[in-house]
Amino acid sequence: MKRLLFLLALALPVMANAQMSNDDVHKYDHTNQSQYRNEIAIPGFDGYHTLKCDFHIHTSFSDGSVWPSVRVQEAWQEGLDAIAMTDHLEYRPHSNIVKAGHNESFNIAKEEADRYGFILIKGTEITRGKPLGHLNAIFIKDADKLDVDDPLKAIDIALEQGGYIIWNHPGWPDNKSTMYPVHEELLRQGKISAYELYNCMESYPLTFDWYKEYGIAPMANTDIHGPVAIDYADRERWVRPMTLVFATERSEEAIREALDARRALAFFHGTLVGDAEYLTKLISASLKVRNLGNGRMEVTNISDITYTMDQGDALYIFPAGKTAMVPVLSGELKVRNCLYGNGKNLMYSFE
Ligand SMILES: [Zn+2]
Ligand SMILES: [Zn+2]
Repeated sequence: MKRLLFLLALALPVMANAQMSNDDVHKYDHTNQSQYRNEIAIPGFDGYHTLKCDFHIHTSFSDGSVWPSVRVQEAWQEGLDAIAMTDHLEYRPHSNIVKAGHNESFNIAKEEADRYGFILIKGTEITRGKPLGHLNAIFIKDADKLDVDDPLKAIDIALEQGGYIIWNHPGWPDNKSTMYPVHEELLRQGKISAYELYNCMESYPLTFDWYKEYGIAPMANTDIHGPVAIDYADRERWVRPMTLVFATERSEEAIREALDARRALAFFHGTLVGDAEYLTKLISASLKVRNLGNGRMEVTNISDITYTMDQGDALYIFPAGKTAMVPVLSGELKVRNCLYGNGKNLMYSFE
């Protein structure tokens, strides 16, 4: 009897949390983690919202191992604001099992996206060997129409549909970030609007200045094929690559407007890459300074991005979500995790 009472005492608090259906079945729906979203705190500036986006996603409809609707659930749960579905046009190893057109993964995911009020952008990946390599066409209307022999024609069809072209992983698969004449020509014609300087778990440092040199947007995308929970299981260490887009509002149209204006930064593994002006504004919006009047100051980091700076021999770390007590800092500090070019660290001043 004593033992029974003890067991009852253990069981009661749990039962109190259950949603009673009837005497046969007790439900614990509130324990389902799919209804909870991890918010990523990154402030905006100049009236823009900072939207966390991933413009490169695969599903079972090309060579991924995840059903399209799950991609939306993952992205919502991870705290993203938008993703683009970009299954390969030409490489579809499951096509003998999954028989569908090139728009179908988007269509399936869109139903889920609408349930979540989540922004889902239609796209596809034009997948050829180098020199051309792989390019994402996003904001397109009909991916089936891009399935043509000539990849340059596919790019033109995408652009006629109002599409936007991203040069994917320039350093993959041969570990060389070579810009070939075909890219120079596409850039000269204004047909490439963005490129990935981070893809999956790689970076391409030699391309870190291209956003400036060619007037294109820098991006960091996952190019995810497996489940996010497996590839980026440890959120502390391996925050998935994301493209930060500074948009007037949270909508597909606003993302497109921001990308056309190149208001974007690439973010992966704690490091931000892109225009020095946006880096500076993002830091200013994130680090709130309170001068204590005694030669010291408090710096409160309201964002989820830790900033690490140095000045001479001194190292200053401003951890995400924490307040740091430091001497009053004057002059420029080198920001170790913000780059505006290859090997070019942002210089930041608190004054
Ligand atoms: Zn690719
Ligand atoms: Zn891909």
